Amino acid sequence: MKTLANKFVTGIKPYVPGKPIEEVKREFGLKNVIKLASNENPYGPSPKVLKAISACAKTLNRYPDGACFELRQEVAKRLKVGADQLVFGCGSDEVIVLALRAFINEGDEVVMAKPSFLVYSLASTLAGAKLVQIPLNGLRYDLVAMKKAVTPRTKIVFIGNPDNPSGQYPTKDEVAVFMKDLPESVIVFFDEAYFEFAAKEKDYPDTLALLRAGRNVVVARTFSKIYGLAGLRVGYGAASLEVADLMNRAREPFNVTSLAQAAAVAALKDSAYYQKILKQLGRERDLLCKELEMLAAKGVSFSKGCTNFIQVRTLIDSRALSPALIKKGIIVRDMSAWGLSNYIRVTIGTPAENKKFLKALKESL
Ligand SMILES: *Cc1c(COP(=O)(O)O)cnc(C)c1O
Repeated sequence: MKTLANKFVTGIKPYVPGKPIEEVKREFGLKNVIKLASNENPYGPSPKVLKAISACAKTLNRYPDGACFELRQEVAKRLKVGADQLVFGCGSDEVIVLALRAFINEGDEVVMAKPSFLVYSLASTLAGAKLVQIPLNGLRYDLVAMKKAVTPRTKIVFIGNPDNPSGQYPTKDEVAVFMKDLPESVIVFFDEAYFEFAAKEKDYPDTLALLRAGRNVVVARTFSKIYGLAGLRVGYGAASLEVADLMNRAREPFNVTSLAQAAAVAALKDSAYYQKILKQLGRERDLLCKELEMLAAKGVSFSKGCTNFIQVRTLIDSRALSPALIKKGIIVRDMSAWGLSNYIRVTIGTPAENKKFLKALKESL
C-alpha cells in the first residue's frame, strides 16, 4: 500500500497525542484520572460560553457561517487589524496547515527550531517542504542561526512565541534583530497559542505591530488554551490582506463549526472570567515551581517560564516515568518523541491536581 500513498505521507511518523482521560481509566481500571498533558485550561470555558453553546445547539441543522462574520468582527476589533486580514481555522493547527498549503511548492524550505512544536514539522513534511531545523540554544531559539539558515528557497519560518515544549519566547530585541533586513519573500509565522500567558511580560515581542507596520508575518492564536475550548477546535491567524486571501483560498469552506464560532465570541466577551483563571494559574505555577525546586537534590530540574506548562527534567527515562505516573492516574507528556528522553512536560492544573502530581512524582523518583 505504501507505494500507492502520497509520497510525503509515508515520511510522517504518526503524531502521538496525550492520552485521553477515558482511555487511561479503561486501560488501567482507574476511577480518578487527571490530565496534565496537553496544556488545557483545567477550569473549562466560562459559564457564559456554555450558555452560548446551548443556544447555538438549536441551529445545528444549518451549516456554519463559512466567513465567521461575528467572530471576525470581534477579533479584528481586539487585534486592531482589518477583518479581511484574518483567517479562521479548526484550531490554530489548521492555520499552520493553511499557510503551508498556500505557499509551499515541493522542495521549498521551512525553517524551524528543534525541538519545537511537532505540528510544524509534520505539516511541513506533508506539504512537501524541506525542513531546516536549528537546534535550540539551551531552551531558547537561536534566531541568529535561524536567520542565517534563510535562503532564496525559504518560504516560512516558524517561531513559537512562546514555544512548546520549551515554554520560552524570543525577546522583543531578538525579534527586532531577526526581522531587520529579512527578505519580504519570507513569511515569519509567529505561533502565539500561549499569547495570553505572555502578553504582560516586558520583553515580549509585539508581533501585531510588525504586521501593522507592513512586515510579512502571520500571527496565529487559539481558543484551545486559556479559553478552555480545545474540544471545539477554533483558532485564527492575522496576516497581510494578500497572505490572508491566499490562505483563505486554501481553506475548506465550513472549517469552523457554528458551536465553535458562538463559543469563541462569548469567550472574547467574558475577559473577566479568563483574567481570573490566568491569575490563578500563575499562582499555581509559582507554587509548583517552588515545590519542584525542593526536589533538586533528587535530580529534578526545570526552567521557569510564563506559560501554563513546565518542562521538567529528571534522572529517570521519561518512557518509564510517564507510564509510572499514568498508573497513579496522572497523565503527563512523555517528551521522548521530541528527543528529550529525560523530560516530561506537565500542565498547570487545579491546586488539587498539582498536589496529586507532586505526590506521585515524589513517589516515583
Ligand atoms: C496547543 C498549541 C497550538 C494550537 O492548538 P490548536 O488547538 O490547534 O489551536 C499551536 N501551537 C502550539 C505551540 C501549541 O502548544
